[in-house]
Amino acid sequence: SKIISNTQKSFKDILNFIPDPTLAIDRSGKVIYWNRAIEKMTGVKAEDMIGRGNYEYALPFYGVRRPILLNFIFKYQKDLEKKYHFIKRAGVVLTTEADVPVRGGKPRVLWAKASPLYDSEGKIIGAIESIRDITDRKIEEQKLKESESRFKGYFNMSGAGIAITSPEKGWIEVNKELCLMLGYSRSEILSKTWSEMTYPDDLAADVKQFDRILSGKIDSYNLDKRFIRKDKKVVWTNISVGCVRESNGNVDYIIALLVDISDRKNSELKLKESHRRYKMIVDNVNDAFYLHDFKGRILDTNENACKMTGYTRNELIGANASIVDTPEQAEFIPKRIQRLIKAGKLLFESQHRRKDGTYFWVSVSAKIVSREDGGLIEAFVRDITDQKQNEERLKESEERYRNLISNLPKTEYVLVHRKGELLWVNDNTVSFLGRSKKEIIGSSVFDYLEKKYQKIVLENINKRAAGKKVGDYEIKIKNKKGEQRNVLVRGSSVNYEGWPAILLVLSDITDMVKKDEELVSVNNKLEQSREAILNVLKDIEEQRDISYKQNIELAKFKLAVDNASDDIIITDSKGVILYANFASEKNNGYSINEIIGKTPAIWGKQMPKEFYENFWKTIKEDKKSCICEVINKRKNGELYTAEIRVSPIVNDRNEVEFFVGISHDITKLKELDRAKSEFVSVASHQLKTPVSGMKWMLESILKNRENNLTEKQITDLKDVYENNERMIGLINDLLNISRIDSGKYALLNLAKTEVVPMIERAIKESSQFANDRKVKIVFHDHLPLNYSINIDHDKIYQAILNLIFNSIKYSKFEGGVSEITTELKNGEFIFSIKDNGIGIPLKNQRYIFEKFYRAENASTSQASGSGLGLYIGKYFIESHKGRVWFDSKEGVGTTFTFTLRQDLI
Ligand code: ADP
Repeated sequence: SKIISNTQKSFKDILNFIPDPTLAIDRSGKVIYWNRAIEKMTGVKAEDMIGRGNYEYALPFYGVRRPILLNFIFKYQKDLEKKYHFIKRAGVVLTTEADVPVRGGKPRVLWAKASPLYDSEGKIIGAIESIRDITDRKIEEQKLKESESRFKGYFNMSGAGIAITSPEKGWIEVNKELCLMLGYSRSEILSKTWSEMTYPDDLAADVKQFDRILSGKIDSYNLDKRFIRKDKKVVWTNISVGCVRESNGNVDYIIALLVDISDRKNSELKLKESHRRYKMIVDNVNDAFYLHDFKGRILDTNENACKMTGYTRNELIGANASIVDTPEQAEFIPKRIQRLIKAGKLLFESQHRRKDGTYFWVSVSAKIVSREDGGLIEAFVRDITDQKQNEERLKESEERYRNLISNLPKTEYVLVHRKGELLWVNDNTVSFLGRSKKEIIGSSVFDYLEKKYQKIVLENINKRAAGKKVGDYEIKIKNKKGEQRNVLVRGSSVNYEGWPAILLVLSDITDMVKKDEELVSVNNKLEQSREAILNVLKDIEEQRDISYKQNIELAKFKLAVDNASDDIIITDSKGVILYANFASEKNNGYSINEIIGKTPAIWGKQMPKEFYENFWKTIKEDKKSCICEVINKRKNGELYTAEIRVSPIVNDRNEVEFFVGISHDITKLKELDRAKSEFVSVASHQLKTPVSGMKWMLESILKNRENNLTEKQITDLKDVYENNERMIGLINDLLNISRIDSGKYALLNLAKTEVVPMIERAIKESSQFANDRKVKIVFHDHLPLNYSINIDHDKIYQAILNLIFNSIKYSKFEGGVSEITTELKNGEFIFSIKDNGIGIPLKNQRYIFEKFYRAENASTSQASGSGLGLYIGKYFIESHKGRVWFDSKEGVGTTFTFTLRQDLI
């Protein structure tokens, strides 16, 4: 019709060239274009379709008449929308995809595009639609998707770590497994490069290969390397690397597959280690060692083999084992190997040859290690030259002895037997037995013995065979004529003609035995009567002695003990009371009869369990005396404190037989002590303030010259000041005591303290006093430079000061010298101060460290004092776990020493 103008005609030609099937309809729905491609797709010719309406064009596609996409241009077909995968509109153009059973076949996926047709005025006059069969593409797409998702799945599910990395060594993508392996989160890994996560030692090897990939030399590689995990642990991996290249050959990206092989590596290392250990053993055995195959080729050897043969390791390895054999022995090698292969192991003697050509004897112990791959034989070779020589020498000496034996005196029978079979006898034996040598050799030793002696000899043969020692023994031998001789048999194991045998030397003692027997019987009788007389005498003697001595001693002892003022009890080793004296009756309220047979438990067991345990351990196990305070209970229930001293009495086998316990009531003393402490505490606190006030006042008066004091007044005031100072000292001591008693001083204020400056300070502080007393103080310091120790400075200083003051105070005025020595001995700090003063009388010495105690000569000499200084000093030193003691002789001098141990405090 009129629509088909010229231009439209050429348009139609163009359409025919469009590769996609295309059709167009006019507004009335009649087909106006049907190109070649659509003819081909549908099998319907253009002339059969052009001009047809009523949706005839849908028939080849759907088999029914219905609107298709180009009908949507005129009117949107809402109800059909669902039949398409999608319908997209871009301006006036519609595109879609749908499954279409073209020509009644299997549905194809068709892609279609429809747009309006306009006339020159822009009015819509029709619609055009191009169709494309995209089924194949869709299938490809689907396949791709599937393989992609399969890869993705593999990527993430694989037991191996997978990474895609860049040529710059950065991570592009990593899977979960890799994250687990390296201990980082995915985002943490992606922010790093693999080179910075690689164990430094392994980086070079990896980078080298990687660079070869980059430069195109290789496309893949595989190696073992270590990574450092986020937690800094090292993980061993096996990594396979491959690359994907762009078309120009440049690397696009790299794929790496990582497997955690820490376990394998560890066992590899272990294997290496055990191999190394095996090597060590092989190298350290005394024998030469060869590992060779069934053909004799040496594969391994050790240091000793080199030493033994003079060859180097390199010369031996690879050579045939015959290299160390003598030519004579080398012939046997193939045979020996055959025997070895059959038996698994073989022991033989052979002769080897050194590199220098000398021969030596060896024993070889060979063993099959493996039968595969040419076989492996392990051989340990020992040089037995010495042994061989010994054997030679033995043979020679055997010869010599044989000669000797043949010429022995008539009374010596010598024979050699093996298991009783006679192998050799000397001429003496032949003449006694009265048979020819021929008859004797090969006969049994038992032929010449009575039953009784056969047994003895058999026993001894067995004993010797079992490797036991057999002493000399006596038997009787008999000869053909029935003559008997007593013989003393001495035997020893020998080699006879190369085999073990026994050499017996039989000494004829028949005459001696006879004489002996007579003597013995006379002697026995004499001996018996002598003993009887002696026994009687001894019994009488002992009896008299014991009763006499004991009676007297006991009576004396009992009298003393019975009437002692302390309680005394004696118990047996289990603690059962055997004896109690009168005092114990008086003090405890129990009668002696009530006490005897009981244990000390009747005093109530007031003390904690550990106390008794310690107590028993000391006296029973350590067997030492124990002195302690216990709280006891009287019969009437009254408690009292007793100081008891228990000593074990041991017999000559050092077993405890008795315990002796001495106790006295110290309740009153204790009470007094407490009262005294209380008084001291109160009094010293009360006194401290006025005395300090006085000191301050005196000081200010003496300093202030404007007071216009006379010389006499000044001296008096100075005296008062001095006395006041002493008072302050005393009060300080008393305060210390009450602090000690109340436990306030138990805590130490420890600090590292340099010792020498501290002592110098103490010397300086006492120098005025020393000058007054004309005492010279000398200080010998043997400590290491700047020696310091962990102590409570004030307390140790106080202790030292007290000792220095005492040494000055108790000097003999003229020529007094105090020598202080410090040194370090076995890690112990030792301070000692020696004076040549008045000394301490022996009988006062044991109380010197007690509170308020002063020796007689101290009180009578002018020196004033309280008897507190040493008590306080000792307390301070011992609270540092130190020890203090002294050594003194009256009129000669005193040395006080104390020690401190750095490690204990
Ligand atoms: P004080 O010196 O105040 O009497 P101490 O406790 O310091 O008290 O000493 C106790 C006693 O030990 C003294 O009274 C004296 O008998 C004796 N003593 C201490 N040091 C010496 C010494 N260096 N030489 C002789 N006697 C000493």
